[in-house]
Amino acid sequence: MEPQTHSPRDFDAVVVGAGFAGLYMLYRLRGLGLSVRVFEAGSGIGGTWFWNRYPGARCDIESLEYSYQFSPELQQDWEWSERYATQPEILRYLEHVADRFELRRDIELETRVSEARFDEASGRWAVATDRGSVSARFCIMATGCLSSTNTPAFPGIDRFAGATYHTGRWPHEGVDFSGKRVGVIGTGSSAIQSIPLIAEQAAHLFVFQRTPNYSIPAHNAPLDPERVESVKADYAGFRAQNSQRPFGANFPVNEHSALQVDATERAREYESRWQQGGLGFFTSFNDLILDRAANDTAAEFVRAKIHSIVNDPSVAEALSPQQVIGCKRLCVDTNYYATFNRPNVTLVDVANAPIEEILPAGLRTTRASYELDCIVFATGFDAMTGALLSIDIRGKAGQTLHDKWAEGPRTYLGLGTAGFPNLFLITGPGSPSVLSNMVPSIEQHVNWIADCIGYLRAQGRERIEATPGAEDAWVAHVNEVAGMTLYPSCNSWYLGANVPGKPRVFMPYLGFPPYVEKCNEVAAKDYEGFALG
Ligand code: FAD
Ligand code: NAP
Repeated sequence: MEPQTHSPRDFDAVVVGAGFAGLYMLYRLRGLGLSVRVFEAGSGIGGTWFWNRYPGARCDIESLEYSYQFSPELQQDWEWSERYATQPEILRYLEHVADRFELRRDIELETRVSEARFDEASGRWAVATDRGSVSARFCIMATGCLSSTNTPAFPGIDRFAGATYHTGRWPHEGVDFSGKRVGVIGTGSSAIQSIPLIAEQAAHLFVFQRTPNYSIPAHNAPLDPERVESVKADYAGFRAQNSQRPFGANFPVNEHSALQVDATERAREYESRWQQGGLGFFTSFNDLILDRAANDTAAEFVRAKIHSIVNDPSVAEALSPQQVIGCKRLCVDTNYYATFNRPNVTLVDVANAPIEEILPAGLRTTRASYELDCIVFATGFDAMTGALLSIDIRGKAGQTLHDKWAEGPRTYLGLGTAGFPNLFLITGPGSPSVLSNMVPSIEQHVNWIADCIGYLRAQGRERIEATPGAEDAWVAHVNEVAGMTLYPSCNSWYLGANVPGKPRVFMPYLGFPPYVEKCNEVAAKDYEGFALG
């Protein structure tokens, strides 16, 4: 690539987003000697961990592996305090990373990217923000899979007299619910983490549940120093072993089918995983997401647990999910089900009696009205595509990404999309992303992109673009793999089913190890499936 002289607003690369992905991308691109500008809409870095400050927010992949591995020194130096770190601790970690690697000077905060247009004549991206425009050869979207919030358009929402909050946009100063009648809408992971803590404060808490979720106890605790020492003694080995597991996380897979063993052995395995706590419950057997009868055994085990925890059998029944376990993302909790034994907590079924309207003093379902001082929307995100499609991205011949993805996202490896040269997506749809431990997935994508850009420069090339043929084959493969599983069987955000009007397409790719192998193979074959120019 020709060395170029840029005005201060012309860069080699623009990165959108300063979460785990954007920060590491900046670090790697700087290492290649590129001029880089990162734009971040928030007033601070951290992405997910900047925005999601609701009570109880924490990771549900263990901190020892929900963290960067690119710097062995960082990995050794940083001390996590708990098995699952809280949001403030993860944000502190990311602040430390930004300082330690002197990343801040290339990050513009409070700057939202509104447009990105590829100019064919110059081969550069024109990137417009609410604070001016820049140009760059490479445009890298680190915009996050779960960063664009979803608030259902309930009629009357603007007339509510009390305070409303979305878990994904929580006020920095926190919220005091003491003495308040609080409504939480939603029962996904964010709700399941926050409900027990809100219930401890509120005068009364109404939980508006459309679909119950399966949740496994976290058994969170201060990290055992001996465990930390043993992981740190061979951190690289720990990471390498986890990268070979289906979700890229330390969930050892029992290599037996749930149906191969008898009921006693099955119960023993589920009980042991339940006691261990966390998402590893889902790899109790090797066919839970493949075989409905196998899945039923795990689902039944959790339903029995719910009935054993919740005193009122009718409430326990209402909290018991009927869909395939794992089909919607499994949740991890501390005292979630037990919270429904509190006298100040009421579970409200909004599946059979949906919310019709928000009133000035509460809300009304088709069955009853509820007086509320505040409403918490734990209603999730326009996942995987929301943040990307809220930017007006135009590729060759002015084609918009919006039009190209009208029937659902189409990518090659979740890294690029045909017709949009030099546009890279970090954990884009079609990559393992949300079906994996996301920090290693992010690092793998960033490394691949940085290596690719390094390769282009070494070869004197200026352009890379997925070919339509490779993209078609990859989209078909992602669908084929999803079709072999039970994932498409319920209305999950993996399928876009939580956002009215969104095309129903299974977006993540299942299987971290084969995916990494494929990416490596593509790179080794001079970026097979991409056209280089
Ligand atoms: P993000 O952290 O989402 O950062 C993207 C950034 O891009 C945001 O700050 C956003 O403001 C910015 N941005 C977007 N669009 C624009 C624009 N147009 N202009 C400027 N800036 C823009 N994953 C796990 O693997 N394990 C977990 O335990 C886990 N826990 C989670 C808990 C919560 C509450 C949530 C919401 C998600 C969790 N996730 C978890 C997923 C989590 O999103 C990822 O692990 C990871 O933090 C994503 O990092 P990222 O940098 O890709 O995206
Ligand atoms: P979510 O899983 O999408 O949950 C949203 C909830 O809102 C669902 O219960 C949904 O019900 C409900 N809802 C949406 N629209 C509704 C409507 N119109 N009426 C009634 N209810 C409605 O969102 P989330 O809880 O924020 O979690 C999103 C993802 O972020 C998680 O799956 C996970 O990947 C990540 N996360 C992780 C953690 C963690 O433990 N580390 C914590 C939070 C988030 P339906 O199910 O019926 O649609």
